[in-house]
Amino acid sequence: MPNYKVHDYIGSIVTKVSVVALFPALAATASLPEHFRLSYSAGVLILPVFIHLSTTYLSPDLDMNSKIYQRWGWMRWYWYPYRELVEHRSWISHSLFFAATFKLCYLAPLLSILCSILFFLLSLLLPAHTVLALLAGIVTSFYGSVLLADAVHILADIGFFRSKKASKYANKHANKHARKNKRGGR
Ligand SMILES: [Zn+2]
Repeated sequence: MPNYKVHDYIGSIVTKVSVVALFPALAATASLPEHFRLSYSAGVLILPVFIHLSTTYLSPDLDMNSKIYQRWGWMRWYWYPYRELVEHRSWISHSLFFAATFKLCYLAPLLSILCSILFFLLSLLLPAHTVLALLAGIVTSFYGSVLLADAVHILADIGFFRSKKASKYANKHANKHARKNKRGGR
């Protein structure tokens, strides 16, 4: 099974790909109906940020005392019940769709606070219906990023990295990537 460095490395590749994919995705807005364009553009623009956050802080390995869990720092308490109650690599944390949906429900109290703050700040500048359209795009994008991060993690866990050669290759690159980040102070 790949370690956190490998997962981080894969996450960084997916984030980079999503940045490149931004351009064709944004070009598609021209063909969208007016009321949908705002939600879609907001969701697409913020997606790479969410993919980075999801692969770094919300990976399925929150179900154990992992590097991902440790990254939550003083906020680790929030994930403590999840870590204790969800069995490592069970279908609750390591499955497509269900794991992301469950994680989002688990995050609901925190997300509602953040959304309320964002709603309040944005409505100081924009009309309420515009703010709601933006928030709809942002929340959908966040859910999509968690789904994608889970899928990539699970695939890495069970598939490709069972091959010894691939695992060796990924470990080598992940270590290089981790050293680079360390030097960069990240
Ligand atoms: Zn895992």
